[in-house]
Amino acid sequence: MANINIDSRKDRTYDAIVIGSGISGGWSAKELAERGLKTLVLERGRDVQHVKDYPTTNLYPWEFEHRNEMPYKVREENPIVSRCYAFHEDAAHFFVKDKEHPYIQEKPFDWIRGYQVGGKSLLWARQTQRWSDFDFEGPLRDGFAVDWPIRYADLKPWYDYVERFAGISGDRDGLPELPDGEFLPAYPLNVVEKYFKQKVEAKYSSRKVIAARCAHISKPQPIHIQQGRTQCQNRTLCQRGCPFGGYFSSNASTLPWAAKTGNMTLRPDAVVHSILYDGDKGRAIGVKVIDRNTKEEIDFYAKLIFVNAAAINTNLILLNSRSDRFPNGLGNDSGTLGKYVAFHNYSARIYGEYEGLLDFKTVGRNPAGGGYIPRFRNLHRQETDFLRGYAAGFSAWRSSHADRSGFGDDLKNSLLNPQLGNWGVGSHMMGETIPKASNYVALDAQQKDDWGMPLLKVHIDYDDNDEKMKKDYLDTLEEMFQEAGFTNIRRDDRWQAPGLDIHEMGGVRMGNDPKTSMLNKWNQMHAVPNVFVTDGASMTSTSTQNPSLTYMAFSARSVDYAVKEMKKGNI
Ligand SMILES: Cc1cc2nc3c(=O)[nH]c(=O)nc-3n(C[C@H](O)[C@H](O)[C@H](O)COP(=O)(O)OP(=O)(O)OC[C@H]3O[C@@H](n4cnc5c(N)ncnc54)[C@H](O)[C@@H]3O)c2cc1C
Ligand code: SF4
Repeated sequence: MANINIDSRKDRTYDAIVIGSGISGGWSAKELAERGLKTLVLERGRDVQHVKDYPTTNLYPWEFEHRNEMPYKVREENPIVSRCYAFHEDAAHFFVKDKEHPYIQEKPFDWIRGYQVGGKSLLWARQTQRWSDFDFEGPLRDGFAVDWPIRYADLKPWYDYVERFAGISGDRDGLPELPDGEFLPAYPLNVVEKYFKQKVEAKYSSRKVIAARCAHISKPQPIHIQQGRTQCQNRTLCQRGCPFGGYFSSNASTLPWAAKTGNMTLRPDAVVHSILYDGDKGRAIGVKVIDRNTKEEIDFYAKLIFVNAAAINTNLILLNSRSDRFPNGLGNDSGTLGKYVAFHNYSARIYGEYEGLLDFKTVGRNPAGGGYIPRFRNLHRQETDFLRGYAAGFSAWRSSHADRSGFGDDLKNSLLNPQLGNWGVGSHMMGETIPKASNYVALDAQQKDDWGMPLLKVHIDYDDNDEKMKKDYLDTLEEMFQEAGFTNIRRDDRWQAPGLDIHEMGGVRMGNDPKTSMLNKWNQMHAVPNVFVTDGASMTSTSTQNPSLTYMAFSARSVDYAVKEMKKGNI
C-alpha cells in the first residue's frame, strides 16, 4: 500500500507547474517544455483543440439561429458578459457566463473571462504594442505606485523573441514612446485614415497616427509555417478561432509547440484551489486542484510554479493559499497582495463624418482595425492637471445604405448595390489609470463557489484623475476632428464599469522593495523564490498600451531566469 502511495505521488510530480493556459500560461509552458522541464499545465476550463473545437469558424451569417445576435433571455441572465462587444452567437461558447461563476461587486466591475484551454487568447482583439521607458519610468517620475524594478532595455530582447514567434504586423514608426519591433508588414491605413494622419501630423508635432500593430501573420515566416500556421486571410472572424492560425492564440501557437517537445502534460478541467507551501523548506511544493466535473481533490507537486491564471484569478489563488507562515496569502509579507489593482480607462469615444474623398471606398477587411494614436499627453513634461495620458484608436469606414423596402428582384438588387454615403470616422480612448491601495480584490469570509473557493470581492473604481483625463481626450480629439474638417462630431461620454476594458492588472506587483511589493525584477516572489507570476497581476502600473504582448515577454524572460537558477541549485 505504501508503495502505491509513493508511486501515486511520483506520478503527480513534475519539474514545473503552470496555472492557466491563456496568453501568458501558453508562453510559460512553451518555454519550460523547450528547456526540457516536465511541465504540467493546469487549466480550469474544458479542452479546446485548435481547429477541431472551433464549431462556428466557417458558418455563414444565416446559419446562426439568431443571425449572430444573443437572444434577449441570455442577455438578461448575463448582463455583465453581454456588455462585451464580442459576446455574440459566434463566440459566446468561449466566454464565462455571469451565472456560472459569480463574484461580489462592492463597486461595479465587469469581469470578462474565458475559462477554457487557451483562455482569452481565442477572443482577444490582438492589438500588440510594446511598452517603453515612458511607461517603466512613469511611477518614479510622477510619484505613484512604486518604481518598476526593470526598464525597457531589460525587456527588449524578450519582446524581439516573442514577436518573431507570435507574428506581429506593424510599421517601424521610430517613436521612442512606442518602440518598434520585429514586424511583419503592417495592414495599411485606408485613404481617410491616411488623410487624418497627414492633417494631425502637420498641425501637431508631437501627435502621430500610425497603422495599428497586431498579432496577425501578414506574411508568414518559416517559424510560423513550422507552427502549422499560415497567412491571415482577412476574414475578421477571429473571435471564432481561426482555422488558418492567422492570429496568435495559445491554441494555435504556444501550446501545440510545447506539446511537440513531449515534455508538456495539459490537464483541462483542473481548478487550482491553492498553492501548497512547506514552511520547513521555505518553498511552495505544489498545488491543490479540484476536478471541475467530479469535484475530486488532487495535489500535484513541482519544484517550480508559474501562476498565469489571468490577473484577478491569480490574485484569488494567491489570497486563497494560506499557511501558518502566510496567513494572508502566499508571499504576502508586504500586505500588498490584492491591492493596487488598475485597469484601462476606455470610457469615452468620439464619432464624426467626412464628406471628402468620396471617389474612394475600401475593399476587403483590415484585421488590425485601422489606426493608432500613441500617447502624447504629459509625455516629456507634465502639461495638464491630471497624471499620465491616453492612447487612442482611430478608424474610418465608408458608410453605405441599402433600401430594404422592396420585394423580389428589386430587394435583391438594392441589397447587392448599396448606396455609398459619407465616410464615418471614430476614435476610442485608452487611458492609463493610477494604481491605488483602495482599488483592491479580497476574499469573502463566508461565501464559496462550487469548487470550494471563496468568492472574490471586487472593489475597484475610477477617480478624479480618470475624469479629467476623459474630458481632455474628448476635447482634444474633437479639436483634431475639427482640424481635419470632419462634420457631425458626436462625443460619446459612455461611462463603462472598470473591467470591460479587459486589461485589469496588478495586485501582485513587481518592485525592488519586499516591504512594498510582491515580486522582484524577475517576476519571482520575494518571499517564495520558486513561485513566479507573469500575467497582468504582476504589473506595477498600466501604461496606455494593450498589455498582453508584455505578459508574453515577461513570461519568456522569467522562465529563462527560473530555469537557469534551478540548474544552479538556487531554486
Ligand atoms: C474581447 C477581448 C479583446 C481583447 N483585446 C485585447 C487586445 O487587443 N490586446 C491585448 O493586449 N489584450 C486584449 N485582451 C486581453 C487579453 O485577452 C488578456 O490580456 C490576456 O488573455 C491575458 O492573458 P492571461 O494568460 O493572463 O489570461 P487568459 O488568457 O485569460 O488565461 C488565463 C487562463 O487561466 C485559467 N484559470 C483561471 N483560474 C484558474 C484556476 N483557478 N485554475 C486553473 N486555471 C485557471 C483560465 O481558465 C484561462 O484559461 C482582450 C480580451 C478580450 C476578451
Ligand atoms: S482575419 Fe485572419 S486571423 Fe482572423 S479569422 Fe480571418 S484569417 Fe484568421
